[in-house]
Amino acid sequence: MSGAGGAAGATGASGIRFDRVSVSYGGTTVLDALDLTVEPGEVMALLGPSGSGKTTALRAVAGFVAPSAGRVLIGGHDVTGLPPYRRGIGMVVQQYALFPHLRVEQNVAFGLRARRTPRAEVSARVAEALEMTGMAAYARRYPRELSGGQQQRVAIARALAVRPGVLLLDEPLSALDARLRSGMLAELARLHRELPHMSILYVTHDQIEALTLADRIAVLDQARLQDCGTPHELYRTPRTAFTAGFVGSANLLTVRAHEDGGFRLGAAALRVAPDTPGRAGPAPGAEATVCVRPHLLRLAEAAEPAAGPGAGVNVLRGTVTGVQWRGHTHRLLVDSCGQQLRADVGDLRQPPQAGDEIALTFHAEDAVLLPGGLAKEARHG
Ligand code: ADP
Ligand code: MG
Repeated sequence: MSGAGGAAGATGASGIRFDRVSVSYGGTTVLDALDLTVEPGEVMALLGPSGSGKTTALRAVAGFVAPSAGRVLIGGHDVTGLPPYRRGIGMVVQQYALFPHLRVEQNVAFGLRARRTPRAEVSARVAEALEMTGMAAYARRYPRELSGGQQQRVAIARALAVRPGVLLLDEPLSALDARLRSGMLAELARLHRELPHMSILYVTHDQIEALTLADRIAVLDQARLQDCGTPHELYRTPRTAFTAGFVGSANLLTVRAHEDGGFRLGAAALRVAPDTPGRAGPAPGAEATVCVRPHLLRLAEAAEPAAGPGAGVNVLRGTVTGVQWRGHTHRLLVDSCGQQLRADVGDLRQPPQAGDEIALTFHAEDAVLLPGGLAKEARHG
C-alpha cells in the first residue's frame, strides 16, 4: 500500500458490511437485523445510548460475538465464521486494556507476535506505529508509568501495528477528561488522513465525537438502526424524533396538519420547509411532529409586531417558565400551548423573567417535519 504513513491495510481497502446481523442473548435480541455498510476508507460512527447494542455490533465485526442470524463481510469476504485474528481488524476499547507486565513496545508487538510476524518486521512495524501515535519516546516504559491519554495512544498503536484494513474503536475516549478528549479527536482525524484506506467503525454515545469525526453516523436505539446519514443530514433533516433529539438538541412540537398545507399548534398557524422528496405530508387533521432546534428560535422584540407567517416566519406565543444563563446564551424555558420549548437566545442585556409573556419566532426553513405523532419516550430525547 502507498498510504502516506505506509501502514494502510495489507489487504487493501476493505469496507464492512452488516448483512441483516442479529445477536441474541438468552432469547433477548440485543441487535435486530442490522443492515449497514461502511465504505472502504470511511469513518462511520455508531451512535446510541447505553445498552442500544453498539458494542455488540462492534464485537460481531471483530469476531468476539457470533450472530444468531445474518452475515458480516469485511472487504467483500464473508468473515462470519472466521476467528478474530484472521479478520484483518484492529480494535481499541474504552479501558486501555494494555498488558501491565509488558513494556509499551511489547504491548504494541503483541498482535504481530501472535501472527508469527518475522522478528525484523515486528520491530519496524512497532517503531512505525509508535511514531504515528507520538509514543516513540515511551517504548521502554510500562503502562503504569503512562498517563491515561498515553496509554490510550499505545492501545491505538497496538491496533495499528497489524496494519488492519478496518479499525474498530469502542468509546476509546470516554475514560479521558474533556480536554484530552478533544485533543485525541484531532489526533484520530490526523491518523485517518495518514491512513486514508483504513475504514473506521467508531462506537460512541457522544454526539460531539460522532459529529466531529465521522463521514456518516448510524444511529442505534433499542437494538435497531434508526437512521443513517452524514452529520449534516442527520442534524438538518433527521428522519425520526429519536435522531432529532439525540443528534443535537431539539424542540419536538406535536402539531396537527391543516388543510392549508401548514400546521396548527393551538391557535398558532405554522409552516415548515417543503417536504424532502419521498416524505409525504400528513393528511389534514393528522398529528405530526415538527422539530425546531433551540438556537433557531428567536425572541421577538416587545415593540415589534412579530412578523406573520406570510413572511415565512412562524410565531409562537408563550409564558416563560425559566431562564438559564449559559455564558454565551440565555436558555429560555417557555410554555406554549401546553408544550415545553427551549430557546437559546444570544446573551441578553435584559432577559425576560419567569412569568413574562413572550413571542418566539422561527423560519419555516429552519423547521423539519417528522412523520407521525411523537413517541412518548422520545419527548425528552
Ligand atoms: P452498548 O454498547 O450500546 O451500551 P451493548 O451492545 O453492550 O450496548 O449491550 C446491548 C444489550 O445487550 C444490553 O442490554 C446488554 O445488557 C446486553 N448484553 C451485552 N452483552 C451481553 C452478554 N454477554 N450477555 C447478556 N447480555 C448482554
Ligand atoms: Mg458499549
